[in-house]
Amino acid sequence: MSGRGSGDEEVTILVVEDEENIRFSLSSGLAREGYRVLEAADGETGLALAREGDPDLVLLDLMLPDISGLDVARLIRRDKSVPIIMVTARDAETDIIGGLEMGADDYVTKPFSMGVLLARIRVNLRRKGGEAGEDGATSSLRIGPLVMEPESLVARLGERSLDLTPRLFQLLLYLARNAGAVCTRDAMLNEVWGFDYVGETRTVDVHVHWLREKLREAGPGVSLETVRGVGYRLVVSEE
Ligand code: CA
Repeated sequence: MSGRGSGDEEVTILVVEDEENIRFSLSSGLAREGYRVLEAADGETGLALAREGDPDLVLLDLMLPDISGLDVARLIRRDKSVPIIMVTARDAETDIIGGLEMGADDYVTKPFSMGVLLARIRVNLRRKGGEAGEDGATSSLRIGPLVMEPESLVARLGERSLDLTPRLFQLLLYLARNAGAVCTRDAMLNEVWGFDYVGETRTVDVHVHWLREKLREAGPGVSLETVRGVGYRLVVSEE
């Protein structure tokens, strides 16, 4: 898949980054992939462009000179569902958790390669497309060797069928729909158990544990990575 969406639709990415050389290399790298790029050197401009430029995705540096990236994420999220990928310093776990709580969808840690960033961008753009689709909720899904049919609750990993309770099925479906991206425990609770469910994030950990056992029994190909302090990520292992 190239940077351009299906058809001739242009995909616009807003880059909010105060360091000029990083902003420049990001913008030129994205432009080379066919994306239309909007640039902001501070949070205020970023917010204005998020509102007026109608981006399809926001790449947001957390360390900005005026408003903090966390606040920018929160303010963008207040009226837009656009995917937000945070750019953070390596290992800044509190930043990562804070950003995800503020409504960011994903993060990359500095330094990162353009290849890694482009992959994360594609995952998050797909995710957005999936949510927008009317019949996305019932259409079957294939991620590597994993096939899931939400209507019949049938799931297969390669040749083996997965024997899942409805709850485990929904949990795996949510992780698979967001394959490659980090899913927070809170998001999983909301999506799989419902926002009015009174429970703890520990519930998620226990179900992920069961799900891992089911996947392991069925064979290789798909695994659930722990993102420490944050949540989980479904990854397809390379053959
Ligand atoms: Ca910065």
